Amino acid sequence: MGYLKTMPSKDGFFGEFGGAFIPPQLEPHFKEIAEAYERLAVDSSYIAELRYIRKHFQGRPTPVQHAKNLSNAMGGAQIYLKREDLNHTGAHKLNHCMGEALLAKFMGKKKLIAETGAGQHGVALATAASYFGMECEIHMGEVDIAKEHPNVVRMKLLGAKVVPVSFGAKTLKEAVDSAFMSYLEQTEDAIYAIGSVVGPHPFPKMVRDFQSVMGFEAKDQFLEMTGNNPDHVVACVGGGSNAMGLFSGFIDDDQVQLHGVEPHGTGTELGKHAATITYGEPGQIHGFKCIMLKDENGEPAPVHSIASGLDYPGVGPEHSYLHTIGKVQYGSASDEETLKAFYALSRHEGIIPALESSHAIAYAMKMAISHPGESILVNLSGRGDKDIDYVTEKFGFGDDFKL
Ligand SMILES: *Cc1c(COP(=O)(O)O)cnc(C)c1O
Repeated sequence: MGYLKTMPSKDGFFGEFGGAFIPPQLEPHFKEIAEAYERLAVDSSYIAELRYIRKHFQGRPTPVQHAKNLSNAMGGAQIYLKREDLNHTGAHKLNHCMGEALLAKFMGKKKLIAETGAGQHGVALATAASYFGMECEIHMGEVDIAKEHPNVVRMKLLGAKVVPVSFGAKTLKEAVDSAFMSYLEQTEDAIYAIGSVVGPHPFPKMVRDFQSVMGFEAKDQFLEMTGNNPDHVVACVGGGSNAMGLFSGFIDDDQVQLHGVEPHGTGTELGKHAATITYGEPGQIHGFKCIMLKDENGEPAPVHSIASGLDYPGVGPEHSYLHTIGKVQYGSASDEETLKAFYALSRHEGIIPALESSHAIAYAMKMAISHPGESILVNLSGRGDKDIDYVTEKFGFGDDFKL
């Protein structure tokens, strides 16, 4: 049997990682979601509607592009891009948000609840809610609200209610707590929609399955273009959903080497990076077990990345597992390498990539030099329009970052 059918276990474990460590009053509601998902994942009307949405609303399949100019500039391996930046809303997150919202619809729910950090998940979920005519409630720390103004505006335009979270550090962790509390009060009408392959079971499995559409598309597209599988498949890892999605298409092909790229930020000390698998240890965060970065008290450590979508002190349980068994190689890209890739892709290929995706590009560029004659498929998980003001105000137009 294929890997995806055997992992995770029935109660959501990938080896020692995963599970659902949640307050007892939440347990029946996560069970309800898990059971509904198991039922609907093989329901032909659910599958047909999701396919229809992908084609006619999201604009799938997204293309695979041979990045010829970038490959020539690096002078080694051939680099290919899975263009998730062309998915509606400009990133891969809508793939799982549409799946989750459709699940809510089939469960008879009328409302979607979630937290958001930088606002990307909030925008994608608000988009899904609007499509289905559902209510949407997004919890966001006040610090993040001030920092991510355009995404707050987008969520409101899409009809979502943005709930400011004003306790603690007023960022993502508090937003999670606030969203869980609100969900507990309205479990009849609402479902909780997590934004990556993290959180309690069934979310790591469910989000992976929704994102696997990228991997299955890319496998066929790459075969059609080249007659082969890629030698390497590369994706950035925050929580790990875009990576698990692309990896899913190739995970049973032992000759394809999979690479996850973590943000190495500005240095190796705690607080300067978010390279969870590279430096972390097993622990428990937000209701599941994974490899995580801990501070001296064993609490989730402060993290940094130039890409706000990657700065999370945990990582999906499946990545923790795939690292432990040696199936996926995990490496990293620093902020500086990431900026170089951001400018290079813009200038050489006519694509402004998200800073998150630029980590994967940076890693592929480094790898290309030492792997001549091979092929590297990189997930371009999102477009960089959201990042252009920040990057150009801080670093200009890339004259210091030429190849
Ligand atoms: C959120 C985000 C990521 C990181 O999330 P994963 O779950 O690790 O994929 C990566 N790229 C883009 C464009 C994002 O918006």
